[in-house]
Amino acid sequence: MKENKNILIKEMAKMLKQGATLTQFACPECGTPLLKAKTGNYICLKCRKQVYIVKDEEDERKILYSFALNKLEDSIINKLNQLTLRLSNEDDIEELGKIARTVTIFLESLEKVNKIKSVWNKYIQKK
Ligand SMILES: [Zn+2]
Repeated sequence: MKENKNILIKEMAKMLKQGATLTQFACPECGTPLLKAKTGNYICLKCRKQVYIVKDEEDERKILYSFALNKLEDSIINKLNQLTLRLSNEDDIEELGKIARTVTIFLESLEKVNKIKSVWNKYIQKK
């Protein structure tokens, strides 16, 4: 336990040297003070997680919406990877047709998600 704490302090010191700053905010899960990295991201070194500081409900909604879009994009890419594997192992023409149609649907979905994301990113950057 004590050793873990020492590692934590060492890592904190390293990040501070790299330009991070110690903030007044604490991690909602473990209570450790959050560091603000040079990139502007808030980090809990103990939980090894990025923490988002929200000003209000609107701010929170924006972050949740961005999360949802990213998660959706990841899921589609995962499915496309699985389908690519099936495609290369499949010889049956009918099955190949089914896989190809599904791939097309997922690619269209991916394109839509990317369009929404780019509009969304422009929208939140303006605010
Ligand atoms: Zn934490």
